Amino acid sequence: ERQAEYAALCRTHQEQKALGLELNMARGKPGREQLDMVMEMYNIPLTADDFITDGIDARNYGYVAGIPIARKLFADLLGCKPSQVIAGGNSSLELMFDAVSKAYTHGLLHSEKPWGRLDRVKWLCPVPGYDRHFKVTESFGMELIPVTMTENGPDMDQVERLIRDPEVRGMWNVPKYSNPTGIIYSDETIRRLAAMKPAAPDFMLMWDNAYCVHELEGDFVPFPDILSLCAEYGNADMVYEFASTSKITFPGAGIACGAVSEANVEYFKNLLNIQIISYDKMNQLRHVRFLKNKEGVLAHMAKHRRRLVPCFDAVKTAFNEELTPCGDIAHWTNPKGGYFISLYVMPGCAKRVAQLCKDCGLTLTGAGSAYPYHKDPDDAHLRIAPTYPSLDEVETASDLLCVCVRLAAVEKLLAENA
Ligand code: PLP
Repeated sequence: ERQAEYAALCRTHQEQKALGLELNMARGKPGREQLDMVMEMYNIPLTADDFITDGIDARNYGYVAGIPIARKLFADLLGCKPSQVIAGGNSSLELMFDAVSKAYTHGLLHSEKPWGRLDRVKWLCPVPGYDRHFKVTESFGMELIPVTMTENGPDMDQVERLIRDPEVRGMWNVPKYSNPTGIIYSDETIRRLAAMKPAAPDFMLMWDNAYCVHELEGDFVPFPDILSLCAEYGNADMVYEFASTSKITFPGAGIACGAVSEANVEYFKNLLNIQIISYDKMNQLRHVRFLKNKEGVLAHMAKHRRRLVPCFDAVKTAFNEELTPCGDIAHWTNPKGGYFISLYVMPGCAKRVAQLCKDCGLTLTGAGSAYPYHKDPDDAHLRIAPTYPSLDEVETASDLLCVCVRLAAVEKLLAENA
């Protein structure tokens, strides 16, 4: 039976290869229609006077923490105070890299010395996680320590044990609609993180709220303000929150923010003032004029949702119809928001599935990339990003992916029984 199944799947795979497809479900990028929805930003008439807000001329140098209306917009989205927000340039990832970089070159508010002078720095990485986060810390030569991700967030018993080591200086987190599992940290996990007592005095709790308003189902899901929670536990300066409008307006051309304690705002402002005279405040202003306020952002996100939900549904429908009947050769997440589905194939098969897809012109995020150093110990995880291709393409890609998952599974079973 398995031999027959293998032969049939090989034939289908060959047929799909012959189609010469060019499909990509690798990166979490919005599709063209989503970008078109934002063009209205450029139709809003602005007079010279409109660029002056709160007595600040957005067209000129200065105000490295951003214009007050942009700081307020992010504060409303994140549930913190405008005085805790630095509205920056076009990328939150850059702000994250910059914060870590400053720890190495200058040290942080509570550092004994810059990290560049330490013998060793270790960093906690909930897995599966965001490959670009891991690359940032890997690029500084840190030792990356994987922490198991549960459906409530990182395994806090592991975290609380690991932070007793003073060489462990930080941790990545995507608390809402995590990249790539889509889970939301539970309130208890968030409290335990806020209450941590790391041995390192300058521990960085990196709180990347990239998907804070990115619901796929229903209304906005509120989340606790990590800044006030950390302050409540005497950890006000431990947390570094980030967000951006990359997946609200234009990726790479939106606005990003960091949200930290007021003491940290002062500390970073002093360093930033040496580095840059001001971020692009005109872009900040255009964005606030377009999005207006939290309600405006949520209304805009509802438009994104209408385009994204069918794409996610297409993937899940294909998985349900073509993989569920095959027993336990695969399982996958059912995210309520964010940009990704995590697909777990049979252990030892993820790389093979990615290769089989590539042979047919479908690019997936490299197998293993959701793990530090690209090492998935089970070789089982694949990150599926169904947002960029058209719906037709997502349907074709999902069918193709299912064939490859089944083919890799049969190959493995045949090899085991050979
Ligand atoms: N953080 C997470 C978790 C992401 O998934 C992404 C992009 O996919 C980013 C940050 C990048 O954000 P930005 O465009 O603001 O640098």
